[in-house]
Amino acid sequence: MLALRPQGGGGWARSACCGISVSQETFMNAALCLLVCTLPLLGPAPESETPPRRTFPNALVISVDGLRSDALIALPAEELPGFARLRRGAATLNARTDPEWTITLPNHTAMITGRFVEGEAGHGWRKNEDHDTDETIHVSKGRYVAGMFDVAHDRGFETMLFAGKTKFSIYDVSWNEVNGAPDTTGTDEGRDKLDRYVYEKDTSDMVEVLLAALARESSQRRLYFVHFAVPDLTGHAYGWDVTPDSRYMKAVRKVDAELVRLLDAIESNAALKSETAIVLTADHGGGAPLKSHTQTHMWIDYIIPFVVWTGAGQEARDLYALNTATRADPGLWQPARNAAGLPPIRNGDAANLALSLLGLPAVPESTIGAQQDLKVVTPAR
Ligand SMILES: [Zn+2]
Repeated sequence: MLALRPQGGGGWARSACCGISVSQETFMNAALCLLVCTLPLLGPAPESETPPRRTFPNALVISVDGLRSDALIALPAEELPGFARLRRGAATLNARTDPEWTITLPNHTAMITGRFVEGEAGHGWRKNEDHDTDETIHVSKGRYVAGMFDVAHDRGFETMLFAGKTKFSIYDVSWNEVNGAPDTTGTDEGRDKLDRYVYEKDTSDMVEVLLAALARESSQRRLYFVHFAVPDLTGHAYGWDVTPDSRYMKAVRKVDAELVRLLDAIESNAALKSETAIVLTADHGGGAPLKSHTQTHMWIDYIIPFVVWTGAGQEARDLYALNTATRADPGLWQPARNAAGLPPIRNGDAANLALSLLGLPAVPESTIGAQQDLKVVTPAR
C-alpha cells in the first residue's frame, strides 16, 4: 500500500512503498512507486520460486548453543569469517526460539523433530539435565515422537549427531535399536535411527571426528547434526557479554574458527563441494539474566540466527524477503505458538528444511515448516 506522507522540505523519506525511499513531491513518483511495488507480481518468478528445489546428497544441521544474533554483528564480518561465509546464502538474524522455552534441550528437540515443545502436537521434552536411564522422549510424551533421523535413516541415509554436552544422549537413547520405530519404508534399515552419536567435550576434538566422518569415501547420503556448546558454557560462566574482547565473544570466535575448518574441508573435497547444504541456527540467545537465558519474554534470549548455506560464491539473501508468502518478520516480538497470521522463521524449521534440501519428506506429525515451503537459494548444478 502507498502511504506517502508529506514531509517538510520535500526531501527523501522512508515510506511504506516496498520500504524504498521515495520522493513525496509528485504524482509521478507515486505512480512510479506503485509500478515498482507491482513489478514483482507481474514479472517472471524470482529464482527462489523456480521449482523443483535442487536437492543435495549431504546436509548438516549446526546448532551453536547460546548464540545471540547480535554477537554476529558485534564484530566486523572479517573477524568472524566462518559465519560470514555461511551467511552468504539465505539468512536472517531475526529467527526465533520456541515461543515458550528458551533453554537447550527443549529447543534442540524442536530442531530435530519440527515440533514446538508445548501443545498436543508438541514433542513435550522439557527437561534440560542428563536424563535418567529409563527415560526417552517417547515415554515422556506418551507416544512415539519421530524426528528427522527417522525420515533420513529409514531411506538409507547415514545419520550422525555430534554433541558438546552429555545430556544430548537423550537423542541417542530415544532413537536407538530398542526405542526407535521399526522401519516400514522400503528396505529395512532397522530401528536405530542414529548411526553414530559422538560426545566430545573439546570443540576441536569434536570437529576432528566430524571431519574424519565427512572425509570417508561413501556412497551413502548423509544427515549430520552438529552441536557447538562453548558459547553457552562461557555465557553461563562469565555472562553473555557482546563487547569484542569478552570471554563470550572469544567463544563465538572459537566456533567461527571451527566453521572455517569445516567449510574449508567441504570446499576442498570434490565429493562434498557443491553437494552439501548447511542449516545453522541456535537453541536460544542469552543474557537475561546476565549469566543465563531463562527469561523467555526477553528478546536477547529469543532472537537467534537462522542461516542456510548451499555452496560458496553466492550473494547474501534475506530469508524473510525470500519467504514473504509464508513467513513474517516479527520485528522485536516473539509471536505466540498459535498466533494469527504468518509465523516467524524458527529454529524448529531446521528439521523439515534439512530434509527438503535432501529431497526427503517432512517429519511425520511435525508442525513447524511441515509444508517444506521455506525458500532458500539453491545454485544450479
Ligand atoms: Zn545454557
